[in-house]
Amino acid sequence: MTPDAYAFLGGKQVPLKDAKVGVMTHALHYGTAVFEGIRGNWNEEHGKMYVFRLREHYERLLRGCRILRINLPYTADDLCQITVDLLEKNGYRQDVYIRPLAFKGQEAVANLKLHELSDEFTLVVLPFGKYIDNDRPIRCQTSSWRRPEDAIMPTGVKITGLYTTSILAKTEAITAGYDEAVLLNWDGTVSEGSGENLFMVSNGRISTPSETDNCLLGITRDSVIQLAREQLGMEVVERRIHRSELYLADEVFLTGTAAHITPMGELDNRKVGDGETGPITKKLQDLYFATVKGNTPAYSKWCTAVTPGGG
Ligand code: PMP
Repeated sequence: MTPDAYAFLGGKQVPLKDAKVGVMTHALHYGTAVFEGIRGNWNEEHGKMYVFRLREHYERLLRGCRILRINLPYTADDLCQITVDLLEKNGYRQDVYIRPLAFKGQEAVANLKLHELSDEFTLVVLPFGKYIDNDRPIRCQTSSWRRPEDAIMPTGVKITGLYTTSILAKTEAITAGYDEAVLLNWDGTVSEGSGENLFMVSNGRISTPSETDNCLLGITRDSVIQLAREQLGMEVVERRIHRSELYLADEVFLTGTAAHITPMGELDNRKVGDGETGPITKKLQDLYFATVKGNTPAYSKWCTAVTPGGG
C-alpha cells in the first residue's frame, strides 16, 4: 500500500488505510458487487495522466448495477468527477489502475433478496505496470473451465461473483506453465480469455466472438474494432468462432484494460501463425498505445486528462 494514499468510501475521500468494511458485508459472502478496471496512462511529455474511456467504464458499471439492483446516488458524470478528484488527490505521476466497486454493503448474511439490501460505492487507485508480459507473444491453454452462459449469470457486465470462473481458469493455466487461459462456451465455441476479449485474423479479416457468445463487452474490444475499421480500413466481424479456427488463424490476440493488446504466440502447444507478433496485431498495438497515452488527436475524446495535484 502506498503510504498517504486516499480511497473513496461512504461518499467521501478517506485515507486508504481507513477504508474498511465489516466481515458481515453481503458482497464478501455472495459476490454481490459490480466492479470496473480502468487505466490512467501517464504521459511524461505532457505532464498529464490520460484516463482511457472513463465514462464508458462507468456506463458499464451502472448497467451491472441495474442487473444487481444496486442503486447508487451517482450518475456516470458524478462517478467520473469522483475519479478525477481522487486521482488529483493521490497525485501519481505514473501509470495507474483505477478500481471502482459498487456493492451490497449491508452487513447481512442469510439474506438472498437483493431488493432488501443497501448499497455502497468505493474507489481505489494503485500504481500499475504490466499485467501480462506482452512484449513477446504469450502461450495460452484452452481451459478445462467453461465460460458461464448468460442464462447462468449475466456475462456482459463485471459482476464480481462471475470472476470465480476466470480465477480458476487463470490459475489452472499459470500452474500448468502457460501465460493465459482461453475459455470456451458450453457448446465448445470460443468465448474469451480469463480477463481479456479475443480476436483472430484470418485471410485479412478480423473476427471476434459476438455479444451473445457470453464474453464481456470489453471497452478495449470496442476500441480495437473502431481502430481496425477506421484506421486500418479492415473488415471486423462479430461471430461465433470454432476452437479449431484459432489453431489455423494467421494471428490471434487478446484485448483488455489490464492486458492492452497481447499477441498469442501459441495455443495448446501449437504455434499461432509463425508464433511471432503478426503485422495486423503490431499495427493495432501501435495505434492503441499512442491513443491511450493521449497522442492520437482523432481519438482524444477517449481520454480524460488529469493533472496530478489538480490545476
Ligand atoms: N473479459 C473479461 C472477463 C474481463 O475481465 C475483461 C477486463 N475487464 C475483459 C474481457 C476486457 O474488458 P475491457 O477491455 O473493458 O477491460
